[in-house]
Amino acid sequence: MLTTFDRQHIWHPYTSMTNPLPVYPVQSASGVRIALEDGRTLIDGMSSWWAAIHGYNHPVLNAALQGQMEKMAHIMFGGLTHEPAIELCRLLVDLTPADLNRVFLCDSGSVSVEVALKMALQFQHADGHPEKHRLLTIRGGYHGDTFHAMSVCDPVTGMHSLFSDSLPKQIFAPRPQCRFTDSWQPDDIVATKTLLTRHQNELAAVIVEPVVQGAGGMWFYHPQYLRELRKLCDDCKVLLIFDEIATGFGRTGKLFAAEHAEVTPDILCLGKALTGGYMTLAATLATKQVAETISSAPPGLFMHGPTFMGNPLACAVATASINLLLQTDWQKEIESIAQQLQQELAPAKDFPQVRDVRVLGAIGVIEMKKEVNMGELQDFFVRQGVWIRPFGHLIYLMPPYIINTDELTTLTSAALKAAQL
Ligand SMILES: *Cc1c(COP(=O)(O)O)cnc(C)c1O
Repeated sequence: MLTTFDRQHIWHPYTSMTNPLPVYPVQSASGVRIALEDGRTLIDGMSSWWAAIHGYNHPVLNAALQGQMEKMAHIMFGGLTHEPAIELCRLLVDLTPADLNRVFLCDSGSVSVEVALKMALQFQHADGHPEKHRLLTIRGGYHGDTFHAMSVCDPVTGMHSLFSDSLPKQIFAPRPQCRFTDSWQPDDIVATKTLLTRHQNELAAVIVEPVVQGAGGMWFYHPQYLRELRKLCDDCKVLLIFDEIATGFGRTGKLFAAEHAEVTPDILCLGKALTGGYMTLAATLATKQVAETISSAPPGLFMHGPTFMGNPLACAVATASINLLLQTDWQKEIESIAQQLQQELAPAKDFPQVRDVRVLGAIGVIEMKKEVNMGELQDFFVRQGVWIRPFGHLIYLMPPYIINTDELTTLTSAALKAAQL
């Protein structure tokens, strides 16, 4: 049996090797449908963790990969360059907020966060402030699983006590309380302002997920918070890093969540939907000022260079995915997904087990009062013919943008049923 070997030998994300939850063998996937080896078909509500925005097995993306494969699958990026990387970086520079025009391509979201943090540290060093090497972030964040990225994840869910001897100690401001849809409460930035001001002489950068905190709790906060944060960072001479690995490429209703606030960070991390979910690829963008300052002081180089940097296959499929997105009326698609999620998840607000229901763009969240039983619910969802993977207190949906109304109703009905179990 496939799954017997799997259970005994293969680690899955955040799993036990002695008591793993069941995994379901997938035979193939196409559009919004995942075909299991046992013949069942599931409607996808997860976009494979924010990534597969166009659905699976898309002819345009397949063709981009096949076309590139005929030329070369990979070539080292040290001393060499190629059209797929240049084309992709040109697109990223054009589409992201103005001023972000120096691109570092890397392998995964966590690495792009490491790269952003290294840029911030090298920037302060080159600027004559090596003592500015700590980071400030807000509670409830998630920035990846590698060590420095982990140090800015929520201290509780990120298990800081477990790794306390090896993690740098960063500074944590409270999570913004003012919701995306509330009217702005100026109090919401006060605690952050106090911490930032007090620690400004030791801080290299502030890192946040703009507007939507993803894996740390699916929380949507007020864009004004980011405008205030931008001002504070400027006043304190601290860089501002936006981690848009989850929010990038339309998910929140804007191409990038930073646009809700019309704020440009000094450094921006992208990943996940970058390749339409086809391959692992991420990018860290910086302003000219950050890039030139880093390069102006010894060693005169930015100290990072992954083996698979700028992988041509990944770049080619990323360019195809972004162009595909731009050719569709994606804003309308997201808006209609948002409206349908609002409408169809609303009844859950009255369920006794539910604490909160919230929707932003193509993200729908039911927050439960108690922690969910992931194994039980996952099995329930598979029996309902959908792929929804809850975590913590959250049952949430973030479907591929191509989902139709009937398919989305299948997802929301299953989520409502699960919230009443
Ligand atoms: C997923 C995620 C990461 C980490 O990306 P990986 O590709 O899993 O390393 C970092 N930041 C945010 C906001 C994410 O959602």
